[in-house]
Amino acid sequence: MLHLQQFETFPAHVLLQGQPGEIQVDYEGLLELKNVRVELDIQMSGEEYFCQGNVMSLVKLECARCLGAFERELVNRTDFIISDRESYDARAKEAIDDEDYAFFEGSDLAVDLSDIVRQAILLAISMKPLCSDDCRGLCPACGVNLNVTACQCRAEKTDARWDALKKLTDN
Ligand SMILES: [Zn+2]
Ligand SMILES: [Zn+2]
Repeated sequence: MLHLQQFETFPAHVLLQGQPGEIQVDYEGLLELKNVRVELDIQMSGEEYFCQGNVMSLVKLECARCLGAFERELVNRTDFIISDRESYDARAKEAIDDEDYAFFEGSDLAVDLSDIVRQAILLAISMKPLCSDDCRGLCPACGVNLNVTACQCRAEKTDARWDALKKLTDN
């Protein structure tokens, strides 16, 4: 939760620390989400506040290839406008823009940033998260994690290839 009232002057810079469990992200391979932080530069323009910064978090993800769990620090840019809902609704009837919006409420101008933060984290998780770029995944035949152990089926496959080569050279 961001309270715009705390700033006496703009532009302002702020680092927000999320409470454990405050942000919930619904993503299948996401096993754990912690240490969510938002760093923002806020510019005031008329009745609106232009925000730019980074959303950072520590995640535990399931590798799409080997299904192993791994931790990663995620960082994603965020860029949005804080407005009051009434003037936004009035304007939205005239023109639709593709900016992201958050809204302030109450006398201390409280802004709930959870949707913005959730979106930034989702975008930072790639479609197929991998524990490493050269993750060898699971053996399609016996299901063994090939990063940890080699298996017999892999050896057979290699042998078959050598046999084919041998046949070629024999000819
Ligand atoms: Zn992996
Ligand atoms: Zn195998």
